Amino acid sequence: MNFIEQIIEEDIRQGKNDAKVHTRFPPEPNGYLHIGHAKSICLNFGIAKKYNGKCNLRFDDTNPVKEDTEYVDSIKEDIQWLGFQWAAEFYASDYFDQLYLWAEQLISEGLAYVDDQTQEEISKGRGVPTAPGVESPYRNRTVEENLDLFRRMRAGEFPDGSRVLRAKIDMASPNMHFRDPIMYRILHATHHRTGDKWCIYPMYDFAHGQSDSIEGITHSICTLEFEVHRPLYDWFCEALRIHHPQQIEFARLNMTNTIMSKRKMLQLVKEHHVNGWDDPRMPTICGLRRRGYTPEAIRNFAETVGVAKRDNIIDVSLLEFCAREHLNKVATRTMAVLDPVKLIIDNYPDDLVEEMEAVNNPEDPEAGTRKVPFAKELWIERADFRENADKKFYRLSIDREVRLKYAYIIKCTHIVKDEAGNITEIHCTYDPNTRSGMPDSNRKVKATIHWATVKYSKKAEVRIFDRLFAVPDPDNCEEGKTFIDNLNPDSLKIQDGWVEPGLTLEKAMEIKYFQFERLGYFYADPDSTEERLVFNKTVSLKQ
Ligand code: ATP
Ligand code: MG
Repeated sequence: MNFIEQIIEEDIRQGKNDAKVHTRFPPEPNGYLHIGHAKSICLNFGIAKKYNGKCNLRFDDTNPVKEDTEYVDSIKEDIQWLGFQWAAEFYASDYFDQLYLWAEQLISEGLAYVDDQTQEEISKGRGVPTAPGVESPYRNRTVEENLDLFRRMRAGEFPDGSRVLRAKIDMASPNMHFRDPIMYRILHATHHRTGDKWCIYPMYDFAHGQSDSIEGITHSICTLEFEVHRPLYDWFCEALRIHHPQQIEFARLNMTNTIMSKRKMLQLVKEHHVNGWDDPRMPTICGLRRRGYTPEAIRNFAETVGVAKRDNIIDVSLLEFCAREHLNKVATRTMAVLDPVKLIIDNYPDDLVEEMEAVNNPEDPEAGTRKVPFAKELWIERADFRENADKKFYRLSIDREVRLKYAYIIKCTHIVKDEAGNITEIHCTYDPNTRSGMPDSNRKVKATIHWATVKYSKKAEVRIFDRLFAVPDPDNCEEGKTFIDNLNPDSLKIQDGWVEPGLTLEKAMEIKYFQFERLGYFYADPDSTEERLVFNKTVSLKQ
């Protein structure tokens, strides 16, 4: 049980909130969700589920300039793909009318005022935590004057940035967020939901807690950077005398070789360092999906990482471990050769084609078997043959034997090279008695290798990825450089591969998750066509 669950169980024991649990996931629709958000989603929806409560989806859409319905749609899709369903869908903008009334209420009670200072003057007046700030010359306006100005702000009489509404709290507080925080700003911008109805917009601090309150949220779970905002969250709830949810902070997820910020991800997309938000190298949920990660793997990762109170960095290899663990159970096995060299079985009949029975998933007997054609000329991996093999190399070499998976034991006789010295053909003989069901089928050899027929296999495009960032901490860069300079120039390699002929477009799209035997896990990319399947390498078989 993590510390948040401990708090919740204690609240339930004491009958707080009628022993009910109601959480929310509150994304700002200004970009696509990333693996850090997945952590927060699993936490909020997971807690609601565990305690028979509810979890809302609330879009924190108080910043019209950066927000868009494209992001709203992608966020909903990603949450559902992860396996969660919200009890209700809300928008902070649903509450603009109520928030406005509450702002007038605070003004009437002498707890808020309109400030005509510039942003710069306001910042300067706030000062530094170690010394009291300076009060605004507009701080002691009358209630009437404040109400009048605020109404005219709303009516659109003033340009952007000319005035703000501030809470009147304490300019000497050691907590900078208490030094008369801004509640409303003027912004003549079209909002993706409210259009041009508003030209003043509430700030995060004046919208978030109240939105939680309106929805009857019991536990408002957020990341550590909001800890310093909590006194203000509490102050607004008390000043307005409304339902007071409990804000609880946990450490945000950080991961090695990864950036975790929508702003930076947007930059990668806009400057074409990646091919869109769902590029399989991106830490976005849609990128991970396209890479071949399963929802189960991501949920298991979030669970394994746990909930911390202090910032830490998780090694990306843990995410990969979780992917392997689940894919091993569900991925359909298939044979693919990615770096081919030709193997010719000299004593195999020229025109014979045998159908070999192959197991779809040894971890899942229900997955059944399939037939793979076998013939005289095959592709095998170049790395599975070595001309000058020492004793530790168990695979194919001259005069040595290996088993061809689901087929025969072969023995290499000789090789052919081109003028440059590259091997172009490997010749061998096979032992007909070693096919499964035949007398010598159990004869042991040291290695089994996979293969694809030259005549029948299909050419596919295979995209192999390396880390998007070459260094563990991409944000940590020298003077004058940015995280962009830490991009790995070799993070994408596109090559051809040979796959089983039975893999039609329809089948590939239905199965989606594959294990190319001995090579790794691969995902059928939506770019695939009837003519050319495309596979993304999710992760290798072993670390
Ligand atoms: P970003 O900096 O990437 O834009 P954000 O915090 O501004 O992230 P929001 O849309 O405001 O993004 O986040 C929605 C919720 O997800 C918030 O409750 C936030 O605390 C949480 N969240 C964001 N990033 C992480 C992370 N790395 N780990 C855990 N939770 C996160
Ligand atoms: Mg944010």
